[in-house]
Amino acid sequence: MILKKITLITACACTLLLTACGVKDSLPQPEPADLIPAPVELTVRSGSVCSHKLETLPQKVIISEKALLNRLNGKTLTDWQLKSAYWMEIGKRKVKIEAADEQGVFYARQSLRMMAALDSAVSCCTILDWPRFQYRGVMLDESRHYQGKEFLLKQLEMMALLKLNRFHFHLVDNPGWRMQIDAYPHLTQLTAWRPVAYFWDWEVNAIGGDFVEEGTPNAYGGYYTKKDIAEILAFAHERHIEVIPEIEMPGHNYETRAAYPELACSLPDGGPSKRELCPGKESTYKFLENVLIEVFDVFPSQYIHIGGDEAGKKSWETCPDCQARMKSEGLKNVEELQSYMIRRMESFAHKHGKRIIGWDEILEGGLAPDATVMSWRGTEGGLKAISQGHDVIFTPSHFCYLDFHQDSTQYRPVGRHLPLEKVYSFDPMVEGISKADAHHVLGIQGNLWTEWVMEPWHAEMMLYPRVFAIAETGWTPAEKKDWPTFERRASILSKVAHDWGYNVFVKPIPHK
Ligand SMILES: [Zn+2]
Repeated sequence: MILKKITLITACACTLLLTACGVKDSLPQPEPADLIPAPVELTVRSGSVCSHKLETLPQKVIISEKALLNRLNGKTLTDWQLKSAYWMEIGKRKVKIEAADEQGVFYARQSLRMMAALDSAVSCCTILDWPRFQYRGVMLDESRHYQGKEFLLKQLEMMALLKLNRFHFHLVDNPGWRMQIDAYPHLTQLTAWRPVAYFWDWEVNAIGGDFVEEGTPNAYGGYYTKKDIAEILAFAHERHIEVIPEIEMPGHNYETRAAYPELACSLPDGGPSKRELCPGKESTYKFLENVLIEVFDVFPSQYIHIGGDEAGKKSWETCPDCQARMKSEGLKNVEELQSYMIRRMESFAHKHGKRIIGWDEILEGGLAPDATVMSWRGTEGGLKAISQGHDVIFTPSHFCYLDFHQDSTQYRPVGRHLPLEKVYSFDPMVEGISKADAHHVLGIQGNLWTEWVMEPWHAEMMLYPRVFAIAETGWTPAEKKDWPTFERRASILSKVAHDWGYNVFVKPIPHK
C-alpha cells in the first residue's frame, strides 16, 4: 500500500473563529475527549476550542503513508490497521489530519464530530489512533420484524460515528423473505408478508394463515428492492461500512418452502423437519445458486453469510433424495450431508470471487476449506475453528446478543440478563489463543435478533448503549479499556444520541 498522493484540503478559511466564538481563555480546560471508542493515544495541549466551531475550523489534510509512518514513530501496524489509522492535531485555529488512506481521514473526522457533540468545548489535543480488530460489526435481523430502509440508514450513521465497519444484514428467515429476487418472485410476493404483525403471535398462532400475498389489506411485512439495497450500500460505502448479506441454508427456510414447496424433502408434507431445505435434491442447489448470483450482483462484499445454524435434520434421515446423495457422496451421517452442502456452496461462492461466513454449526460434520466462523454458542466453536486454521468473528450470545434484556424493568425483558457492563467485559482475544493464531481473530459483532423486537424505537433501545461497548471492544487496545470511564462516556454519548433522535436505553436510578 503505497500512497504517494498528498492531498491538501482547506475546508474553511475562517481564521477568526475563536474570537467570534467568544470563548477564548474564558472556559476552564475541559476534560480530555470523552470519545467512544477511546483512542490509542491522546495528548491534551493547552487551550480549547468552542465545540460548535470545531468542525468548521480550517482543516489541513495530508494523505500520505510516509507522513503517517513518521507519526507512528516506529510502531508497527498491519496493512488494514494502517489504512484506518490517523493522526490529528486539534489546535485553536486549525485541525491537521494525517492518514495513509481516505479511511483514516474519515475516522479522524468521526472523532472530530463526536468531540464536537459531547461537550461545549474541546481541549486542544493530538490524537494517534488505529483499530485493534479489522471486523467491528452489528447484525440486524430484518426477517422476524421488518424495519425498512430509513431505519437502517439511521443506524448506519451511528455505526459510522462509532467507527464500526461491518453491517451483517440478516435478510431471510422463517417468518419472512426480505430481498427482491427476480428469478423467484414468490419469495417476496408470497412470503414477505404475513397476517400477524408481532412475531410471537405469528409463531404461536398464525391467524388467517402463515403468509399472505403482497397487497393483502393489513398485511405485515415488506422487503428490500434491489434499488433500496443499492441505496443502503452507497450510504454504507460512503461511511466505510461493508454490508454482508446473509442468505440462510439449509435451516431457517420455512418461508422459502412456503414459496417453493418442492424444495422440501421428498416425504409426505416434507417430513418432520419443517424449516429445512432438502440437501439431496439437485434442484435445491440450482435454486440457491440462482439466488446467490442475484445477491452477488447486488452486494460487492467479499463475504456472503450462509447461516448454517440450527438445521433440523430428521427428514434427511429417511428422505430418498437425501439418502441417495449420502450414498453417492460417501457421507456417513446427516451432519456430513450438511457439510457437503456448505462445502458445495462455498465452492460456488469461490467461483464468484466470494468467501463464506457461517454460524459455528458449520463445524459439525467438517468445516468447508476456507470458511470463516461466527462463534455464537460461546467461544468454543471459535477456538476449534482457529485450531483448524480458520478465521473467526466472535459473537458469543452471553456477551453479544442484544435481544437479551438489559434490565428487568425494560420493555419486554426477555432472554438472559445482558447489561452494558457485561457486553463491555468481553475480549475477543479469548484465553487459549496463541500469539501465532491471533491474526485469525477478525473481531467482534453485536447481534440484534428481533423475535421480540417489533417497533423501531424498541430496536434502538436494545442497540444503544450496548453497541457503544461493541465499538470500543472492537477498536480500543485491551489495556486502554476501562469500565468506570466507559460508563461515564457511554452516559454522555447516550444523552447526545437521545438529542439526535435515537431511543437509547437508560437504566433507571434505583430507589434508596
Ligand atoms: Zn431430502
